[in-house]
Amino acid sequence: MQPDALPQKTDGAGVLRYAGRALALVWSTNKTLTVVFALLTLATGLLPAAIAFVGQLIVDAVVAAIGEPALYRQALIYIGIEAVLVALVSAGSRGISMCQSLLRAQLGHRVNVLILEKAQELSMTQFEDSEFYDKLTRARREASSRPLSLVNRTFTLMQNAVTLTSYAVLLLQFSAWAVLILFIAGFPSFFAETKFAGDAFRLFRWRSPESRMQMYLETVLAREDHAKEVKLFRLGPLFLQRYRDIFSRLYAEDRSLTLRRETWGLVLGLVATAAFYAVYAWIGISTMRGAISLGEMTMYLLVFRQGQTAVAACLSAIGGMYEDNLYLSNLYEYLEQSSPDASGQAARGEKPGDGVRFTGVRFTYPGSRRPVLHDINLHLRPGESFALVGENGAGKTTLIKLLTGLYTPNAGTIELDGTDLRDWDPQHLRRRIGVIFQDFARYQITVGENIGVGDVERVNDPAGWSKAAEQGMADAFITELPAGYDTQLGSWFRDGQELSSGQWQKIALSRAFMDSHADILVMDEPTASMDAAAEAALFEHFRKLTNDKITILISHRFSTVRRADQIVVIQNGRITERGTHAELMALRGHYATLFSLQAEGYR
Ligand code: ADP
Repeated sequence: MQPDALPQKTDGAGVLRYAGRALALVWSTNKTLTVVFALLTLATGLLPAAIAFVGQLIVDAVVAAIGEPALYRQALIYIGIEAVLVALVSAGSRGISMCQSLLRAQLGHRVNVLILEKAQELSMTQFEDSEFYDKLTRARREASSRPLSLVNRTFTLMQNAVTLTSYAVLLLQFSAWAVLILFIAGFPSFFAETKFAGDAFRLFRWRSPESRMQMYLETVLAREDHAKEVKLFRLGPLFLQRYRDIFSRLYAEDRSLTLRRETWGLVLGLVATAAFYAVYAWIGISTMRGAISLGEMTMYLLVFRQGQTAVAACLSAIGGMYEDNLYLSNLYEYLEQSSPDASGQAARGEKPGDGVRFTGVRFTYPGSRRPVLHDINLHLRPGESFALVGENGAGKTTLIKLLTGLYTPNAGTIELDGTDLRDWDPQHLRRRIGVIFQDFARYQITVGENIGVGDVERVNDPAGWSKAAEQGMADAFITELPAGYDTQLGSWFRDGQELSSGQWQKIALSRAFMDSHADILVMDEPTASMDAAAEAALFEHFRKLTNDKITILISHRFSTVRRADQIVVIQNGRITERGTHAELMALRGHYATLFSLQAEGYR
């Protein structure tokens, strides 16, 4: 797809659409700095014209004083005044750059926080949507610098407009035509700049998937969790080559845009130079004819040349504002993304103690056509333990994701205590359910906190950690770690300790025990890295601790599965068998076949 073929909605955004919002953002970030910034900008805008005017006075005073020692003093005073003004200009620009640096730091942080806060509100569906993910990536990459840039440019524009107006007032005394030439000569390069800024932005948007791939490859090549496989499978050169190829492709496009941009810049810049020298000749002739003084000639030349710079600065500020606007449209598109409506209010169910009921549930992942679950009907009562059995990809994890509210079914209902999950207040719902997913997170924080995150309100509760660790059978190995519960995990940080997969699983189990409010406990293959004896012991222990709760276990080990009160067999997204171990064996169906297969393996 060509960049031009993209929807160009954002182009219509208008130069000022986001300027107000960006200004409001900067203003609310630091009011004092913004005010100082604005005042300095205005002051330094007025000074150049004053300097040019004093320059004229100096030249004329010097010319008048030739051979007249009594007049020397006057000329020297003017020189002194100019020196003070120039000093003020440099003080002003220092002040401006100080305001900019401080604001940039604060604003960058603020926007990043906004982006990360928004990320907390998003649904799983949005996270897994690649187009959406692109928006997030783009917002993170550029948007933290753009609001300040937009404000900088707005101020630069104001500053140069002030300078330019004061120059125009001075130049008008020479000729209104000169003022007109000054303005018109700057426009061609402005239009070229704006066009190229738009092209650059479309290129940036269009490339998001490629940039995302590049970032991903960087992660794979440079992160410790991938290093093992990358080395052993010798994937480094392969991925590095892909990384290089993407760069070459992107670079070719960049180069062509840069070449066009600079060539046009040169050609149109020559227009401005030609205009300057035409006016130079005109002013020179007027001076030679005696129509204006030498001092006036110096001033007009200075004013015209600097006026051109100011026109160029104004126009490039407008061009830049246009560009910043385009990038900010990205940020706001992301921030305004509607979050899933968490309208549920219920803190308790209508039929407390009813447990979980799936009725006619069907589910298809967004972006996919094939339903993963069909017609699921299931009642889970408190005090019962369930085991979900089925081949890989049968839909077991998906069932858990629906139960926990991470996704919403496309048809049918899921009720907890007689109330639809959608009507539950998400906070209350989450507190009722403790889950350990197969791919649980391994946080690079301390061991204790890794367990503590199971209940955000007690993250830093050492007594809670050790109780949960005891229940999750992790306390034995934790006490042997160099700093016990305060041992840093992972290799990103100093003295970080790595754990074995089995040890990590025990940490994850303990995490599930951290939240004592949870009365539905789900373990999605939590013990795959443990040996069979440890898994069986753990499950027994687990059942004792949870006898009034609903426990759901997903496992491929039938020695454990058989101990569950109810076994649910899922095949291709449907529940095909259900009952106790004895009942299912008697049925001689799928479960019985799988069980016998595994049992044979042990004979
Ligand atoms: P199980 O836990 O039984 O191994 P899952 O519930 O994880 O199976 O997956 C069921 C099916 O759903 C699989 O075919 C898988 O490819 C698909 N699937 C899982 N997660 C997603 C997802 N986030 N987006 C799209 N399809 C998915």
